[in-house]
Order: sequence, then structure tokens, then C-alpha cells
Amino acid sequence: MTTAFDADTLAFYQGNAADYAAWSKHRHVRLNAFLERLPAGAAILELGCGAGADSAHMIAQGFAVRPTDGSPQMAAQAAQRLGREVETLLFHQLDDIALYDGVWANACLLHVPRDELGGVLTRIWRALKPGGWFYASYKGGEGEGRDKLARYYNYPTEAWLRERYGEAGAWSSLAIDANQDTGFDNKPAEILHVTVQKAA
Ligand code: SAM
Repeated sequence: MTTAFDADTLAFYQGNAADYAAWSKHRHVRLNAFLERLPAGAAILELGCGAGADSAHMIAQGFAVRPTDGSPQMAAQAAQRLGREVETLLFHQLDDIALYDGVWANACLLHVPRDELGGVLTRIWRALKPGGWFYASYKGGEGEGRDKLARYYNYPTEAWLRERYGEAGAWSSLAIDANQDTGFDNKPAEILHVTVQKAA
């Protein structure tokens, strides 16, 4: 099995879990739009859940959420917030087949090394039920690099993302839109939001 993670990036989240949890702010506009696509009580896998704000919102709406994160310390922050166990799961450890109506991966697959992203997307495609929805966001750019906090980013273009998703499996729709936002490193960045539906 290949290991689709960057050790320095995970070390950052391990060492700064509480600070990241205190900083993270969630407006839920995109999450609400995603949830509107799903049936009531749908099964949702959250990858890279961080401090658990999005899982908390989904649970409050009555969805059957599985919150996960690759950093045990971040998972502990989320567990504290959610009042339930949160599994430590690295993206490349996802082995589920056709279990989820939705996969939510906000601002986390942007840390997957470029040559490993396709494999992770294939795992997510397999984990979705036919017709299931999947959202992920990335920092846009022209190739991999690190921020001033030493976190790795795959910095994709929209065209590069379309190729990787296209190779990962069959989708009945693939939409990408962009906006500007400022991350934990305080630097404004272009964010690419990718929403896809697995072919039925
Ligand atoms: N989704 C959360 C949010 O929107 O606040 C957290 C985003 S934070 C920028 C990225 C998260 O991805 C961190 O919690 C980190 O531990 C997790 N992460 C990084 N690499 C990962 C990997 N290979 N597998 C699973 N989680 C990973």
C-alpha cells in the first residue's frame, strides 16, 4: 500500500491541534448546499475533519456522520467537540466500498502529494454509493510547494484536477468554482471547490 501523506504536514497538525481548533471558523454555506443534495439521514464520511466543526453541523442536521482525521491530536480535538470517538484515518487507508451517500473533504486533500492524489480519489470513488456526492477543496496554483508553516500543498490548476478526477472513476457531474480566502498561514489564496457525483 502506498502512503499518501506528507509527514511534515501531519507533524504540523499534531503539534498545533489546539491552536488550529481555536482558529478554525466555519460559515457552512457550501456545506449546506452539499447537504441539500443528500437524502435525510444520509451516510456521510468526513475526511480530514480537523477540529470537527463541519461534522458537528452535519450531526446536528440529523445525518449519519463518520468523522475522521489522519492526525490523532486533531481527531482528539474533534472528539472533544463532538462528545464521541473520532477515528484516526489516513486517506490512503480508506477501503470502504459503496458505503456513503456523501464524502466531505474540506481543505484536506490539498495536502496529498500530487502523484498520490489519483489513488486517493479512486478510494473515495469506490467508497461512494452509485449516485453519491463528494466535495473537496484545494488551494489553486501551478504545482506543489510548502507554506511558511512547512505544510505541503499540491497547488493544482483546475485542468489538472479535472484530469485526476477523470482518471479516478466515472462521475455523472463535475463542477469546480473558485473564490479567495485566507488560511491559517494568514496568506490570501485562491480556493478551488470541487463537487462531483458518482455515476449511478
Ligand atoms: N477539514 C477541516 C477544516 O475544514 O477545518 C480541517 C482542515 S486542515 C487545513 C487539514 C486536515 O487534514 C488536518 O486536520 C490534518 O490532520 C488532515 N490531514 C492531513 N493529511 C492527512 C492525511 N494524509 N490523511 C488524513 N488526514 C490528513
